Amino acid sequence: MAKATNYRSITILCSSCLQKLYLYRKGGSGSLVKCIPDRILKDYTKGDLCCPQCGQSFAREVSMGGRVVYKIVGGKVITKGMRRK
Ligand SMILES: [Zn+2]
Repeated sequence: MAKATNYRSITILCSSCLQKLYLYRKGGSGSLVKCIPDRILKDYTKGDLCCPQCGQSFAREVSMGGRVVYKIVGGKVITKGMRRK
């Protein structure tokens, strides 16, 4: 049964070569603007915020309220699985 959370698992892909970057547990229904490292279920990258296949930088590390988040660079990623149905 679904819990009271509003999370869904999405796949984040590189927009230029479609390499998988993260399997990510996303909250809310808005578009993806940042990744919280704790919610990354599977990390396909080398942890350098660059696509492991084409080397495109897709996010940058920013500090938000004392924690580090990965702010997605606009247009650099594609998300799959945003809709549950
Ligand atoms: Zn790529």
